[in-house]
Amino acid sequence: MKLIIGYCRVSSNKQFSEGHALERYIESLVRFGIPESLIYFDVESGVSDSREGFNAVLDLVQSGQVSTVVIPNFDRLTRSPLQWEQTRELFTKCGVQVKFLEDGELDLTSPDGLFTGRIKAALAAQVRDRIRAHSLAGHAKHRERKEPYKPIFGYVKIDGAIVANEGKYPRSRRSYFEVARELVDTFLEVRSLGGTLQTFKNKFYMHPPSYEGKIHLKCPSSTTGLKNWLLNAQLRGKLQYLSFGHKTPQMIVEGTHTPLISENEWIAIQGILEGNKRRRAVNPGTLINPLSGIAKCCCCGGAMSQRTGYKRINGEYSDRFLVCRNARNRNGHCKPEYARGYGLSIEVAERALREKLVEKAQEIAKLVPNVRAINPEIVELRESIKILEAINDPDLVEVIERKKTRLLLLQETEEIKTVESQEKTKLLEMVIHPGFWNGMTPGDRNAIYRELVSVVWCDKGQLRVIPYN
Ligand SMILES: [Zn+2]
Repeated sequence: MKLIIGYCRVSSNKQFSEGHALERYIESLVRFGIPESLIYFDVESGVSDSREGFNAVLDLVQSGQVSTVVIPNFDRLTRSPLQWEQTRELFTKCGVQVKFLEDGELDLTSPDGLFTGRIKAALAAQVRDRIRAHSLAGHAKHRERKEPYKPIFGYVKIDGAIVANEGKYPRSRRSYFEVARELVDTFLEVRSLGGTLQTFKNKFYMHPPSYEGKIHLKCPSSTTGLKNWLLNAQLRGKLQYLSFGHKTPQMIVEGTHTPLISENEWIAIQGILEGNKRRRAVNPGTLINPLSGIAKCCCCGGAMSQRTGYKRINGEYSDRFLVCRNARNRNGHCKPEYARGYGLSIEVAERALREKLVEKAQEIAKLVPNVRAINPEIVELRESIKILEAINDPDLVEVIERKKTRLLLLQETEEIKTVESQEKTKLLEMVIHPGFWNGMTPGDRNAIYRELVSVVWCDKGQLRVIPYN
């Protein structure tokens, strides 16, 4: 009788951040009925990829002793498209079945072959994880520097700390903090963003749209601005750190400043906003801008945002167009003519972007694999260490040690860079496949675009896609 064995891979990052991820996966395999002695696993670090457990599985499969390999779920098997392809070939040849605890069996002989939805999903997850790891590193940096988030309306930053703004609000007898509180009260009473702003404008001075002063001294004057303000954890006495590059995920930590709203009011505010959202009944997934963070305005360098499509009578949404956010907001940073769409729908832009990626992938395929140039600083350090060691003076020991440490750090960085560029090349190789993008959500696509493209310049409907090198 042939063996049924288990396999599982976790990244060391995940194992660290989620705690006992590996133990949980192993437990689920044991529960499925696989003896612990037949469960193989790997804890992968970002750079090295030794995968002893996986190699043991391959050996067993090759020796013909295995009938089935059980894996907790697809992305616990491999995240490398190349490795998956090789594995699949071997498994098919040896007549080995793959079973996923979470999503059933995978028929390796089906024509869907390599490009199953699963490999794509795993790929998107890989890219997303990397982005997340980067943003977590960003948080850590913020926290280390003890750099609280910028103050928002009602607060001010004094000596690096957020405190209630007791300064006088223009044309009133009240402080900013009190006026901010009034804004919350109005919202809780009126229960709509637009209505709140209307009511508030009748009572208090509002800065004109041309206002260019400190943003925390300006009362939110648009519905989006008001919503973001109400949702900001700073109002609840916390500090909200922005992640690297994008707005989510954010990290929230306890602050020391006076809260403007209580926890109960917070629940009420969320309830009102949720209720309003439900009434509009828009599926948020379909409205994500797949080019967010990549498409930029050629005129001002600012972000291109999507002009959300309106709903047609037949219930479908019209095309969404990319327009310069600055031009649209008329904040003086861009020319008014860039507020128009020029026929640049999201669809058109995505098509152009993908064509460019295919072109790039073909270019790379033609190239002889190039060796990365060695960082000149590394060469210089090695040389000078050699020279200093030759002098053999005990006074120089400390200098040499410092130089060695620096060399080690540089070499590590280079190694990470190499691995990252190899991953990118692999991803690019997959993009050529015509079915690659099928079934991906806008969020998945955005993750992959961000990985491969540094910027898409938009100039009145003309596009210039700049992929990473
Ligand atoms: Zn612009």
